[in-house]
Amino acid sequence: MNKKAIIIGAGPAGLTAAYRLRKTAPDVDVAVFEATERIGGISTTINHNGNRMDIGGHRFFSKSKIVNDLWNEIMPVQSSAVNPEKTDNVMLIRNRVSRIFFRRKFFDYPISIKPATFRNMGLVNTVKSGFSYLVSAVGKRPENSLEDFYINRFGKHLYRMFFEDYTEKVWGVHPSKLSPSWGAQRVKELSVLAIIKEIFLKIFAPHRETKQTSLIERFLYPKFGPGQLWEIAAAKAEEIGAEIRLNSIVTGIQAENGKIRSVTVNCGGKTENFSCDYLFSTMPVKDLAAAMGNAVPEAVRRIAADLSYRDFITVGLLVKRLKLKNETKIKTVANIIPDCWIYVQERDVRIGRLQIFNNWSPYMAADNENTVWIGLEYFSNEGDELWNMPEKEFIDFAVNELAKIGIIDESDVLDSVQVKYPKAYPSYFGSYSEFDVVRNYLDGIENLYCIGRNGQHRYNNQDHSMLTAIEAVNLLKSGETDKSAVWNVNTETEYHEGK
Ligand SMILES: Cc1cc2nc3c(=O)[nH]c(=O)nc-3n(C[C@H](O)[C@H](O)[C@H](O)COP(=O)(O)OP(=O)(O)OC[C@H]3O[C@@H](n4cnc5c(N)ncnc54)[C@H](O)[C@@H]3O)c2cc1C
Repeated sequence: MNKKAIIIGAGPAGLTAAYRLRKTAPDVDVAVFEATERIGGISTTINHNGNRMDIGGHRFFSKSKIVNDLWNEIMPVQSSAVNPEKTDNVMLIRNRVSRIFFRRKFFDYPISIKPATFRNMGLVNTVKSGFSYLVSAVGKRPENSLEDFYINRFGKHLYRMFFEDYTEKVWGVHPSKLSPSWGAQRVKELSVLAIIKEIFLKIFAPHRETKQTSLIERFLYPKFGPGQLWEIAAAKAEEIGAEIRLNSIVTGIQAENGKIRSVTVNCGGKTENFSCDYLFSTMPVKDLAAAMGNAVPEAVRRIAADLSYRDFITVGLLVKRLKLKNETKIKTVANIIPDCWIYVQERDVRIGRLQIFNNWSPYMAADNENTVWIGLEYFSNEGDELWNMPEKEFIDFAVNELAKIGIIDESDVLDSVQVKYPKAYPSYFGSYSEFDVVRNYLDGIENLYCIGRNGQHRYNNQDHSMLTAIEAVNLLKSGETDKSAVWNVNTETEYHEGK
């Protein structure tokens, strides 16, 4: 008789596990339980009246061959043979443009040293930045916090201008209270010195491949957004025998003699029990431990319960036009600004980032020529004032903010939608410093595999999430009980998108 694997969550990790299991371990039956009505998890696409938006913008970029091959198997990359005008199942090759909006002006992201930067900063700020950089270059501080990390690389003045407020917007915590390891992962090689070096290399060796991540300029993107790829992946997994049930929330997990035996699922209001031989979990570790109840030792339960997250609210706005002019040399449809997304560093608004979905794919807006479909991003904590604001009030607030900083006219808004996504970012504070206790306990449960982003409480991108699933399937097939390979994904300290 076939063994049975249950997978919690139909996001990139859960679907990759389902597909790989059915493809490479045909003697294992697969059932995926997904809490929501949607496929794709955080990498889903919302279709609002024909305008499509991501939960944030999702670049497809990986240095892993196995991930790139899998993406290509699900959705071929555009080429002379695969033309986006003729087929929908196509991965577009896109150019990344993203800038910082600060003091109602654009700055390059990452900050570059060129006349426009100094012009936008003004003489006083430029001089102050230069001096404070020199001060930090001669007297490096011990790196005990993210604040120290940034000041060592950029100087106090640039840090105050470009990092301090934005980091606090994203995490809800001041950078002086965040671990420097977050910076080490995201911007390790970025600093004033690195920027100067990059400028020289650009002049003297323009064709060389850039090493740093923040300077990657191309990425892949499904014609209709990330959710399209994951819906195709789900259909492919179903074709080869995986069962995927939506609106099915795993609420209880039963273990016996060091193994998971069954799960309790709320299937659209009806509670059912399902036995299993293997369990793959992409649900948040906090919820997983809670679902296992008293079987979990007290210390593990406490640490898991205290794990913290950052929640995400996005507003899709359809507007007739943006008030910002395209002053770049980059050509765009209707000459809108070319950015895929903009970091909003303005201090007088709460918005953190702005997505322009027309620039992610010209097929994201129902009318790409005459409307601009944008995504306003807010970082919040479940239960705080932003989270609790009624939808209409929140949309009005968001529209107001964008009008205030001169990006739109309120009268140009044609349509809107709000989407809230809890636990979008696993946080590296709270009880995270004790996370190994939880991990060791979960790893000791032989037939349980914790995979993906919230499944591992790690800042995993889609490719990492997929790789954890692939490693877990390999372990299952080999019978290996040491789960290190699953946790070793995404552990290099440098940022991972660099190829
Ligand atoms: C704003 C933002 C921007 C991002 N940008 C990028 C990017 O540019 N490129 C990139 O590669 N990655 C990006 N990511 C990361 C990417 O979204 C994740 O890596 C990926 O979606 C994680 O996949 P996953 O399957 O592990 O988890 P998720 O996507 O979180 O999916 C987990 C699924 O499990 C379900 N679930 C949870 N609890 C239960 C339960 N109890 N029962 C049943 N189902 C349950 C959830 O509903 C969800 O569908 C971004 C993330 C965010 C927040």
